[in-house]
Amino acid sequence: MILSYDFHLHSCLSPCGDDDAYPTIMAGMAKAAGADASALTDHNASRNCRAFLAACEAYELIGLTGMEMTTSEEVHVLCLLPSLEAAAELEKYVRERQMDIRNKPDIFGWQFVTDENDVVISEEKRLLITAASISVSATPDLLASLGGIAIPAHIDRSSFSLLSNLGAFDRDMGFPTVELSTAADPKALVKAYPALSGVPFIVDSDAHRPGDIPDITHTLESDGTKPEDIIRALREGSGLERL
Ligand SMILES: [Zn+2]
Ligand SMILES: [Zn+2]
Repeated sequence: MILSYDFHLHSCLSPCGDDDAYPTIMAGMAKAAGADASALTDHNASRNCRAFLAACEAYELIGLTGMEMTTSEEVHVLCLLPSLEAAAELEKYVRERQMDIRNKPDIFGWQFVTDENDVVISEEKRLLITAASISVSATPDLLASLGGIAIPAHIDRSSFSLLSNLGAFDRDMGFPTVELSTAADPKALVKAYPALSGVPFIVDSDAHRPGDIPDITHTLESDGTKPEDIIRALREGSGLERL
């Protein structure tokens, strides 16, 4: 089946996410934008995924858990996972490898964990956007060990991306798929980095506010509607556009 998607959404747990970006509302807005499948990917944290999945079920949206990891090279890697348990395990792993710096809400923004009724359960005191001591090269195997997939995020951007921070793409890095921002020019990207030629890509909104999700036009092909099916399709590049 052909499924439209947006696998890169933030919520009020991300310091840069809007305080009104409840995970439930982000799920609803993804559905309204035309998504069949979506994922919540807050910075280095997955605790709002429980409320997100509850809303996905209510909206009949295929929901994946995840996070946007900041590696030691300050590269953002989209991490998609099949379950809350796997996401919690990854969050624990990342947290143990992150510096314990206090968040300053007036500078960075609030970090709220909320439930399926949009009630604030807790405020995350540790600043979530700091890098973890995990190399970008370790993320494909790390995610595979949890049944998930690591996808270099918004590789066309001039900061916090694989290309901006490492200066190259190589298939031997082990990433079967890459993510482009909605502003990317795929042809220009391949011209600048010929090694990307033929690599499957996804395009996500990276929305930080409920109103930031554009109408969804990108699709993949999946055998089924379980998160595992979606992750397999992303690993195989099934039905994805190619650079
Ligand atoms: Zn990012
Ligand atoms: Zn993001």
